[in-house]
Order: sequence, then C-alpha cells, then structure tokens
Amino acid sequence: MSLESSAPLGRQIADKARRRKLLKENPAPFPNTTRVITISNQKGGVGKTTTTVNLAAALALSGARVLVIDLDPQGNASTALGAVHREETPSVYDVIIGDKPIGEVIQKSSQVENLYCVPATIHLAGAEIELVSLVAREQRLRRALDIFLENQDQKFHYVFIDCPPSLGLLTINAFVAAREVLIPIQCEYYALEGLSQLLKNIQLIELHLNPELRLSTILLTMFDSRTNLATEVANEVRQHFPEQTLKTVIPRSVRISEAPSYGQSVIEYDESSTGALAYLEAAAEIGHRGIIGKVATHGS
Ligand code: ATP
Ligand code: MG
Repeated sequence: MSLESSAPLGRQIADKARRRKLLKENPAPFPNTTRVITISNQKGGVGKTTTTVNLAAALALSGARVLVIDLDPQGNASTALGAVHREETPSVYDVIIGDKPIGEVIQKSSQVENLYCVPATIHLAGAEIELVSLVAREQRLRRALDIFLENQDQKFHYVFIDCPPSLGLLTINAFVAAREVLIPIQCEYYALEGLSQLLKNIQLIELHLNPELRLSTILLTMFDSRTNLATEVANEVRQHFPEQTLKTVIPRSVRISEAPSYGQSVIEYDESSTGALAYLEAAAEIGHRGIIGKVATHGS
C-alpha cells in the first residue's frame, strides 16, 4: 500500500480510537424517570427501525434497562432484536386490542442484558381498523404502558416505540404513550418533504391528547459524505432544528444493513464498525442531553 493511500486510513483509525476513548471517558448518566421516546416518520425506509434497535442496544449495553415496543405490523424491530413474532405469539396487538398486560407479552433479549421487546405480529395489520370502534382508542398503549411501568420493581430507563411509516391510529397511540419524539431523517433529496405534516400532527397531539409531548431529537441517517446533497440536507435540517438535531450523524454503512438478518444490533454484529460507533455516540448524546425541545413545531 502506498503512503498516499495509507495516510487517510491511518487518520481514520486514529479518529475512531479517539472517539471510542471519548465515549469511554464520558458515560451518559441514566435518567431519573423513564424516558419514553417514539421513533416516527411517515416516510418509509428512513431508518426508524434501525435507529430504534441500535439506540436501544447501545443504551442497554451501557447498563440502562431498555424496552422496545414494536408498533409496526411489519415486525422489523422484533426481527432485528431476535424476538419471536409468529402469528400465534402474544404481542403488542393483544395489548392494544385485547387489553393484555404488557408483562404477559414482553420478551427478554437473548443477546443483550437489560434489553426487552414487546413484539409485533401480522395481527397488528388489522389494528388500525379495529381501533376505530374501541373506547379511548388513542390512549390504549399509554394506559397499558403506564400500568406496566408503575409496577416494575426495577425501573426502566428508556422505552423506545418503533412506529409504522404512516400517521394512523397506531402512530397516534405511540405519540400519546411517549413524552418525546425522535425523527430520523435520511440525508437525501426528499428528506424534508412531509416533515411539516408530521410536525403538525405532533402539535395536534400535544394540544389535544398529550401536552407533555416534545420533539426532542432529530437524527440524520444514511449520511454519505461523498455527496454534496447529503451535506446540504444535513445543513438545512440543522438550520431549522438547531437544538433538536444530534451532532452525531449516522453514516451509510453496509454493516448496519447486514446486522438485522442475524437478529443483532450493529454493535453486537461488528462493534469495530463506523456504524456501531455512530449509534453508540448517538445513544450517549441522547443520554447526556436529557429531555430538551420546546413545542413540537419549534423551528418549523
Ligand atoms: P419502514 O418505514 O419500512 O419502517 P424504516 O424507516 O424503519 O422503514 P429501516 O428499516 O430502519 O427504515 O431502514 C430501511 C433500510 O435501510 C433497511 O434495509 C436498513 O437495513 C437500511 N439502513 C438503515 N440505516 C442504514 C444505514 N445507516 N446504512 C445503510 N443501510 C441502512
Ligand atoms: Mg421500520
């Protein structure tokens, strides 16, 4: 290898070592009360599930007790966490539609200590319609979650809710159950399209159903530093949401996309990868910042 080509590689290795050292030296404190964070964006394929499972794993590996609620009928978060989610498996559907306690459907991760999952099965696909005729249809997840969290001897530090790519009743249930919204934004051309509608919905929920709800966090995902467009999108998002946007950016990384097929987070799959490091940094940043963010539409 010529000196010329090894120099950037050397720099990259040194940079990663420096970032790992920083992470090790500055562990994030655990929150005093449970932070319930919903990961939402009605745009499909922007990294919601990837962000949910990797942040959850990163925080659990740091010692926090973490619960992931899979609220997407696709069940991708359940798959990525290695949770059983066959048709007959007790799931979030039974909680929302059948009033089953969360404690009866929760699964412990076989891979990561302190990490738990409420799986989603195919039944959830019908829940949007079944919910329409139910009493307190927007509050069903909130009620179940509040009861569950109140009755834990050992407190959960974080609950992440992975939303489907839509703004229907399942997503509304997630907004009502949460105190914080995290929006992953893919660094590409249409990134900001649809964002104002999402913000409007969050504001409506805040006004009518859940006054505590905050847009606390925006995470830039699938960032490709070789394209000017990615940098432009990132800059624009930061301009609109200077407080909420994390400094950490998640790079486009093959390792991140490979991990779910092994039922693993990228951190277990390849801890030395840039993708793993980025999610560890994003988790630490979220932990250090605590809850920030004023009204949901701030900066829009
Ligand atoms: P949906 O709207 O269908 O629920 P989503 O918003 O949850 O999608 P993901 O499933 O997390 O998005 O990601 C979409 C695809 O992009 C997946 O195949 C995932 O593995 C891949 N992906 C996510 N983040 C990255 C990344 N940083 N680098 C490379 N691939 C990624
Ligand atoms: Mg998803």
